[in-house]
Amino acid sequence: MRIAVARETRPGETRVALVPELVGALTALGYDVVVEPGAGLGALAEDADYEAAGATVEDRAVEDADVVVSVQPLERATARRLASGSTTVSFLPAAQELDLVADLRDLRISSFAMELVPRISRAQSMDALSSQSLVAGYRCAVVAAGLLRRFLPLNMTAAGTVEPAQVVVLGAGVAGLQAIATAKRLGAVVRAYDVRPSSAEEIASMGARAIDLDLPPLEGSGGYAREMDEERARLQRELLAPHVAAADALITTAAVPGRTAPLLVTRAMVEAMAPGSVVVDLAADSGGNVEGSVPGELVRVGAAQVWGGRNVPAQMPQPASRLYAQNVVNLVALMTRPATADAPAALAPDLADEVLDAACVTHDGVVRHGPTRALLEGPSDGPPVGPSTGGAP
Ligand code: NAD
Repeated sequence: MRIAVARETRPGETRVALVPELVGALTALGYDVVVEPGAGLGALAEDADYEAAGATVEDRAVEDADVVVSVQPLERATARRLASGSTTVSFLPAAQELDLVADLRDLRISSFAMELVPRISRAQSMDALSSQSLVAGYRCAVVAAGLLRRFLPLNMTAAGTVEPAQVVVLGAGVAGLQAIATAKRLGAVVRAYDVRPSSAEEIASMGARAIDLDLPPLEGSGGYAREMDEERARLQRELLAPHVAAADALITTAAVPGRTAPLLVTRAMVEAMAPGSVVVDLAADSGGNVEGSVPGELVRVGAAQVWGGRNVPAQMPQPASRLYAQNVVNLVALMTRPATADAPAALAPDLADEVLDAACVTHDGVVRHGPTRALLEGPSDGPPVGPSTGGAP
């Protein structure tokens, strides 16, 4: 069976879904690994590196593949070149990719979305949301440090004492905790706030101080945050305002799954920050935690510089690709029936497995992911029934 590594074509994507170091993990499972020419260049992996690791580099890698792995969803034109019955593994934000999902359904291509892998202990090694958030959180702290025109650590010298920088982090999930840890390592004084009650302990374990606003917690199912109502959002902003005003660097990473990012910081709050302050909004891509932030741009709000994140993991393509590739390899391994004396290894996803069941968007002509099916085909009560007869849009 052939696993193809697609060359990413979406603007700004520098990562690759498989790095040369992990080719051997797939060939050991019994797969042939085929790479589109130049697929790894954005992540500094040359075609020759893949060949040295045991892969082949072919123009028609994707067309002839049983499985295609990528970071971003395939373009519709590419998906239409795949063989019926083949499988894709990628990030697949289905609600934003409905036409592609309909194509995959109608072409009878099985698709697995990395962001739908459940956040359970058994699936941690396949959790690409976590691995990429780790990269993004680190990057945010380093960007803030780079933009600040001052020391982060305390410096006591013969010429006098330089006070450490004050960093405030809002949202202490995977990315926020990594931003906290990185800013701490650089010597800043770090305070952080999150709506989940368990976050205070996690913030403290990183050596930072949790900000207590004395507001009711907002924990939903699965350890995620719930959306705030407008009154709580207003109160939270009011109580956070003095902490934001006192920060030299503000890093925001707050998100609620399936929703646009909550607005935590208004323009007036940023305008109250001192000259030279820096704001890094990781959520700029998904609506923004900070009013006025622009994805992919550094803008001025009041006297502060505001950096809006856009596909932040792709700004560190080497480690982001290495971690993502390991997530992909682990998911593919879970789908693989090992070789026996009578039969070679094969891709045989057991959709009764809760990880594969949750991650599978399309299979055998049906959209299995309920919310996406409802968006495409209208609400229905039961599980998907039989292949769709509709043509690709
Ligand atoms: P996320 O990216 O959805 O959100 C980031 C953070 O923003 C979260 O901590 C959330 O509580 C916070 N937030 C939301 N609204 C906020 C607001 N109004 N103000 C301040 N903060 C706000 O979350 P994530 O980083 O992917 O993960 C969050 C949770 O999931 C954590 O509890 C984490 O430990 C857990 N998790 C579990 C696993 C696992 O078990 N395999 C893996 C990853 C994450």
